[in-house]
Amino acid sequence: AIREEADVSPSGAAAIEDIATRHLVQPWPTSGSIGAEARGLIQSGEGIYVTDHTGRRLIDGPAGMWCVNVGHRRPELAQVLYDQAMDLSYNSPWYTTNAPSAVLAERLAGHAPEGMNHVFYTTGGSSAVETALRFMQFYNNVRGRPEKKLIVSREGAYHGSTYLSASLNGRPRDHDWMDSASQLVLKLSSPNPFRRPSGVSVEAFCDGLVEEFRTLIATTGAERIGAFVAEPIQASGGVIVPPGDYLKRMRALCTEHDILYISDEVVTAFGRLGQVFASDDVFGIKPDMITFAKGVTSGYFPLGGVMIASRLFSDLRQSNHSDAMFAHGLTYSSHPIGCAVALKNLDILEDGLLEQARTISGHFQSRLKALEALPLVGEVRGLGLMACIECVADRVSNNPLTLDLEVGKRIDKHCQEMGLLVRPLINMCVMSPPLTISENQIDEMADILDRSIRLTQDELVREGLW
Ligand code: PMP
Repeated sequence: AIREEADVSPSGAAAIEDIATRHLVQPWPTSGSIGAEARGLIQSGEGIYVTDHTGRRLIDGPAGMWCVNVGHRRPELAQVLYDQAMDLSYNSPWYTTNAPSAVLAERLAGHAPEGMNHVFYTTGGSSAVETALRFMQFYNNVRGRPEKKLIVSREGAYHGSTYLSASLNGRPRDHDWMDSASQLVLKLSSPNPFRRPSGVSVEAFCDGLVEEFRTLIATTGAERIGAFVAEPIQASGGVIVPPGDYLKRMRALCTEHDILYISDEVVTAFGRLGQVFASDDVFGIKPDMITFAKGVTSGYFPLGGVMIASRLFSDLRQSNHSDAMFAHGLTYSSHPIGCAVALKNLDILEDGLLEQARTISGHFQSRLKALEALPLVGEVRGLGLMACIECVADRVSNNPLTLDLEVGKRIDKHCQEMGLLVRPLINMCVMSPPLTISENQIDEMADILDRSIRLTQDELVREGLW
């Protein structure tokens, strides 16, 4: 019926875009365009490249949505998808188990911080965060602390699009038109050194952030706070690398007050920072739970999960409620195809790609950092293979450019014309390429960005906007 309505060749890119415009509800639409929004068609992918609707090859700067870590069109991953579907495409995790999920769990435990030996699989990042939060609620109910449920999140955070996970989000516009479980959530400042008050050193800024948490605990009462949730690096908030030993000190406060530390590694895990999990191996912290998704399958299959510290299970077993049920599970928890793909993906990462990512990240960061020479650029920041270019009104105030200038989108438009896809975020551009990117490709990326930002500067001046 859809094809008849479209009345165009189904193989034509324009035709597909037209069908999508008339029938898809795209993620994150505005009410002015919902149900009628044209988004460019991506036809195929290979390595670090995707091909768009015009047949143009683009470097996939954001690796899809920070997820295509091992690159597009890996035959060995395609083969695993096929083989596993032919062996066992699905089994009920309610009554049974399957080999890939068990073997993967053991492999993940081997990479997770010591004492974190269990995983609960989900369908993606939001459901992983949702699971971690519901587990915290269950944990405290069973331990006879039903009032210990508040969740501490931070400005600039992104944790998902399900009701409870989305309630933690703290970026501009996340809550303007959406309801949330705000009565369950407390917010702290974003640990963004670039936006620290003027005249304050980074050290003093970090002290202030820790003090803010300490005060929140004191005024709220530790007996009411169940969890602190934090991305090691705020990703969608603009690649916010926290200062100094901030994460360690936040972890210490959680330990002191029996608050579960949930490290949201949906972006930072699986090689983005050169390790399978970054919490301990990069930042030296041992969370109580780690949420992951995206890079676990490099986007070849929807899968996520929560690593859970084994001590939490000991606590539950010692409670007086041995028959209390954690009434939580997804039809696709422990999906055999997702787990089989994740195993092969992990083989690729372990077989040199993690090391390669660690080696190349220095070149990536230094080439992008050089863009700070351009007057529109206030800061380039990042770690590993994730980075953000933040544009400012001027380099003295460092005020961000206003929303309506859509500077990120302007830069992205120029980049696309030169063969690079970036992720525009209001006044920022975010970059997180596949880990397979080479030095030459990084150079090409940086050159395109340089030229595109210059063109954007000229354009803004010409239009009298900057
Ligand atoms: N947590 C973080 C840190 C994320 O970046 C995202 C997605 N961008 C999510 C959770 C939600 O993951 P998903 O979109 O797979 O539900």
